[in-house]
Amino acid sequence: MFIADAHCDTLYAIAIEGTKPEACVVTPARMAAGGVGLQTFALFCGKHGPAGTPYEDAQAMLRAVPRVGVPILTGDLPDEPPASPTGVFSCEGGEMLEGSLERFHEFQRKLRLRMIALTWNFENEIGHPAKEGPEGGLKPFGLDLLRAMDAEGVLADVSHLNEAGFWDVCEHTALPPIASHSDCRWLCDVPRNLWKEQARAIIERGGFIGVNFYSEFLREGGGATLDDVVRHVDALMELGGEDAVGFGSDFDGIEAWPEGLGHPGEFPNLLDALRSRGYSEGQLEKLAGLNLWNVLKRAEAVRR
Ligand SMILES: [Zn+2]
Repeated sequence: MFIADAHCDTLYAIAIEGTKPEACVVTPARMAAGGVGLQTFALFCGKHGPAGTPYEDAQAMLRAVPRVGVPILTGDLPDEPPASPTGVFSCEGGEMLEGSLERFHEFQRKLRLRMIALTWNFENEIGHPAKEGPEGGLKPFGLDLLRAMDAEGVLADVSHLNEAGFWDVCEHTALPPIASHSDCRWLCDVPRNLWKEQARAIIERGGFIGVNFYSEFLREGGGATLDDVVRHVDALMELGGEDAVGFGSDFDGIEAWPEGLGHPGEFPNLLDALRSRGYSEGQLEKLAGLNLWNVLKRAEAVRR
């Protein structure tokens, strides 16, 4: 079964934190063992936000790409989902664009970004993070960027964005909004998760929600198990998310995860848990990878 993962921080771990590729959570061998055909590799703005050197850090992450050992698609996606480990690029934290559409186009020409998380945990030129509270929508550059992203088929990723920004994205993007790595706030009330109205808005617009494997987003106080992941999937499915729900592991960016779901080689454990919950093979195929694949293909089609 084709498995796709909407978010990991492996490039940051290697290039900025100095983790050896073989010591990373996401490795080509584990991807192959788990059946992960597509991994989104984020260029992460860094833990200092705009006060750091996000553009330079992104360049360092790009230089680290060969060390990951996974080929990354920087052109059109193939007709069928890849059978062996393959990557695509995303951006997490729009401050690496330095408030410049030229920077966006520069990244886009070279990398074919599939999605941009507009903020990380700091206010930037685009908008405000969930971590700082719900108020304050997208800034003028954020709205200009959304138009450019729509034209280029780059999805707006609302994981980390605050509520006012979220609703601005819903109002202003032509492409569907996605949340690459967020869970259900009505099950676990942390600012990084989505309220039910937000999840419903993404689903209604044909977007995508990648369930995050971070224990503290799955269960208040942490200590989450595979059952908690299933609980979040169930809740999104109950909202009509059968064509919108998938996974955004956040591997190499999280410190705690459910037992049995610690690396890409363990995805089959999650699929088994969902299978025993009663999901059909057709539903599992969508959740495991086709929902992410399909939204990426639809975004690419808009670009053409
Ligand atoms: Zn993140």
